[in-house]
Amino acid sequence: MTMKLECDVIRDLLPLYAEKLASPASSALVEQHLSECPACRAELEQMEKPVPVQPEPQPDAPLLGIRKTLQKKSIRIAAAAVLAVLCAFGLVFWMGGAKTPVTAEQAKIWTYNKKENEANLCVLEVQGENVRLELEGSFNWGNPSVTVRAVRYTFPHIHAALEGLLGTSASDTSIAVSGTQVLTVQCADETRYYSDGQRVERFILKKEDGTQTYVYESEDVVTQEQGVFEKG
Ligand SMILES: [Zn+2]
Repeated sequence: MTMKLECDVIRDLLPLYAEKLASPASSALVEQHLSECPACRAELEQMEKPVPVQPEPQPDAPLLGIRKTLQKKSIRIAAAAVLAVLCAFGLVFWMGGAKTPVTAEQAKIWTYNKKENEANLCVLEVQGENVRLELEGSFNWGNPSVTVRAVRYTFPHIHAALEGLLGTSASDTSIAVSGTQVLTVQCADETRYYSDGQRVERFILKKEDGTQTYVYESEDVVTQEQGVFEKG
C-alpha cells in the first residue's frame, strides 16, 4: 500500500478505533500506522478532542428582542391612549358640570299656574340665558318643600350632551310643584320662596313652647300679625 492509500484506510478505521470499537487486528494496524504517520496522529487527536457543547442556536433571538421591544412600546402607547381618553372624559365631565350660581335677576324667574290631570300646578321658569334649575335631592310630590338652585352652566352644550348621554336631567329651565308645596329657589344673591304660584316670604313662627317653624306667606298677610312672626 502506498502511504496515501494506507492513510485513507486508517482514516476510515480511526473513528472505530477512537471509540474502541475496532477489532484487535484493526487496532494493531492503526497503531502501527500512527507510530509512523504524524498526519493520522493529528487526525486522531482532533477526533478525541472533547466536542465543545455549543449553545442551542436561536435564530429568532434578535427577532424576539425586537418583538419584545415592540410589545413594550405598544403597551406604552396603549396606556398613553387610555390615559388620554380618560383625561378627555374627565375634561368633558368637568366641563359638563362646570357651573356658577346666578343672581335672581340673571335667572329671570317667572311663574304661572296650570291644571294638569285635575291637579293645580305652579310652574316656575327661568328665562336667563343658559340658566338652569338644579333640583336639590330628588323630587317627590309628597314633600312639603322643593328646593332648586339657579345656575348657569359654563359649557351648556356639553352639559346638555352629557345629560342626553347619561339619560339624566337633574336640571331644567322649569319646575312644576303642587299648590301645597313651597318652592325654594336659591340664587347667588338671594333665596326666593314661592307658594301656590305666588312669591312669598319666609317667616319664623316662634311658638309659646319655644319651638319654631317656618311660615311662608306674602308680606301683607303677615304684617297683620307682627310680633308673632319674624322674617328670616
Ligand atoms: Zn497516515
